[in-house]
Amino acid sequence: MINQWKSKKAQKLIDGRSQKETLRFLNRELKQGAKKLDEKADALHETIFSRIDCLDCANCCKSIPPLINDTDVNRISRALRMKTSVFRQQYVRIDEDGDSVIATTPCPFLGTDNYCSIYEVRPKACRAYPHTGNLDFSRHLSLHAQNTLYCPAVYHIIEGLKAVTK
Ligand code: SF4
Ligand code: SF4
Repeated sequence: MINQWKSKKAQKLIDGRSQKETLRFLNRELKQGAKKLDEKADALHETIFSRIDCLDCANCCKSIPPLINDTDVNRISRALRMKTSVFRQQYVRIDEDGDSVIATTPCPFLGTDNYCSIYEVRPKACRAYPHTGNLDFSRHLSLHAQNTLYCPAVYHIIEGLKAVTK
């Protein structure tokens, strides 16, 4: 993580400020056109993910509980040969925004080798994370600003955007 040496309070302030600055930058970029921003982000997504191995990181699985919808619950429960009610009881909680998410972090399906034990049937949210490719970038600007604190790929994609904007 960035700025690990800071106290938690100072870190929170820095994180809040840097998120706001990042969001301001992204919104300025959006004003130049969503399509243009999506294309620039998509190219950077390809470059950055060709250099980053998620298996060396897994920070998203360690720190952010993914959304899990009914279709996900049915698919994963079936694969684990569990009743959906038991699966929900064991693995799902409702978060402060009223959304269903995996109940604990690190994710209970993350192995010590950083492999996902339910990879083939993982939640849709896990497949889409971090929403920087597929020309989908501009729809998730607040999320990207937040994710710069968790995901090195998002951090570098946004730094790349800043560099090409200069
Ligand atoms: S389900 Fe798999 S991909 Fe999703 S957070 Fe858990 S370990 Fe990561
Ligand atoms: S936090 Fe980003 S770089 Fe790390 S595993 Fe998740 S998607 Fe990959």
